[in-house]
Amino acid sequence: ETFIGRVSAAKPLNAFLVETPDHALAAADVADKAIAAGETLGKMVGVPIGMKDLFCTEGVETTAASGILEGFTPQYESTVSANLFKAGAGMLGKLNMDQFAMGSSNETSAFGNVISPWRRNDGGNTDLAPGGSSGGSAAVVSGRIAPAATGTDTGGSIRQPAAFVGITGFKPTYGRCSRWGTIAFASSLDQAGPMAQDVRDCAIMLEAMAGFDPKDSTSLELPVPDWEAALNSNLAGKKIGIPKEYRVDNMPAEIDALWEQGIAWLKDAGATIVDVSLPHTKYALPAYYIIAPAEASSNLARYDGVRYGSRDLPDGAGLQDMYAATREAGFGAEVKRRIMIGTYVLSAGYYDAYYTQAQKVRTLISQDFEKAWNSCDLLLTPTAPSAAFGLGEKADDPLAMYLNDVFTVPSSLAGLPAMSVPTGLDGQGLPLGLQIIGKALDEQNVFNAGLALE
Ligand code: GLN
Repeated sequence: ETFIGRVSAAKPLNAFLVETPDHALAAADVADKAIAAGETLGKMVGVPIGMKDLFCTEGVETTAASGILEGFTPQYESTVSANLFKAGAGMLGKLNMDQFAMGSSNETSAFGNVISPWRRNDGGNTDLAPGGSSGGSAAVVSGRIAPAATGTDTGGSIRQPAAFVGITGFKPTYGRCSRWGTIAFASSLDQAGPMAQDVRDCAIMLEAMAGFDPKDSTSLELPVPDWEAALNSNLAGKKIGIPKEYRVDNMPAEIDALWEQGIAWLKDAGATIVDVSLPHTKYALPAYYIIAPAEASSNLARYDGVRYGSRDLPDGAGLQDMYAATREAGFGAEVKRRIMIGTYVLSAGYYDAYYTQAQKVRTLISQDFEKAWNSCDLLLTPTAPSAAFGLGEKADDPLAMYLNDVFTVPSSLAGLPAMSVPTGLDGQGLPLGLQIIGKALDEQNVFNAGLALE
């Protein structure tokens, strides 16, 4: 009831697209009864969480913050949300996000942007971006409106918003969480993960979300470890690599200073620090912004006005006109930009020059990481090249927006687990995060290093 009250009080942040207080209360009720019966409760029993609107929820409208899905109420539950509910969690509501998870500021939502609960300490009243695409998740966890929320990360959408609002966000190894019932953006990159107050909460929540699912052909057929039980901030014997390429021009000195501080904290925890090089890092962003739109253009072909959500049928229109009118009215500008880029790079004549080339770069980036693992166990980098920016500051400049993903995209292309941990504030009082990247399936050591940074 406390959290439901906060959901109502937080309406100006525009974080919720749908509120589902009854769902959260029903889960609390089950928890109450179990407590009364003297039962031992599972780790997620009764916990009220926020659900990013990319997860299909049975009987609850799901739009991925796009006009084209307005009115779409799934008849099925995504595997990730079903797993969380099976573990006893309740849902406070569906969270606003960048439309189809395309964006880094939440401004591409068809239902208005989320506002970060944070302000600069300059006495001004600039509304700040909560990051994106999981900006609603970031805002509610950081505003203590929900103890935890689901996110999805295709190129940084869990980690960058977590860094912008001072919470912890974890993207697991590709394939840990089933993609079934999660609205697809770029299928070879999309991964669900937890966003919560701290490392321990992320470990608990990921245990509930993850697991093999035969309905997703890329789901990993592996048991889910008890990450929480094995948490250990003693990093003796661990080698942490510092990749020299994770720097951009004009990166605030405070981010460099924080990175140094992070290195010191990890040394204090017993780790050895080594310099490493990931030479193809600079090609990751261009490769991502070819591969992700290519996959998106294919995934979004299904929104034709027939099968889901909204339909525009002008008088006397034929089938083609209906497709065009529905897609013209239903998709936002950024989504259209991605579809156009995607169809272009996949078209005959350009496929080899762009798409094939980007896939080759993707392989080189994976190989960079493989080579780095010869000399270290984990990598430490900043999560983003800046603190949260003001809403509207980058809205008209897609390239500036894309550049914000420069440190999160490489590990997405390689499918590696990566986490953002809040580690400090900048001179304006805004949170900054550090990122830990691990080997495939080595979530445990990512969690452990994160614990050492807390
Ligand atoms: N900002 C990136 C993009 O717009 C990442 C989005 C995401 O991870 N879903 O593609």
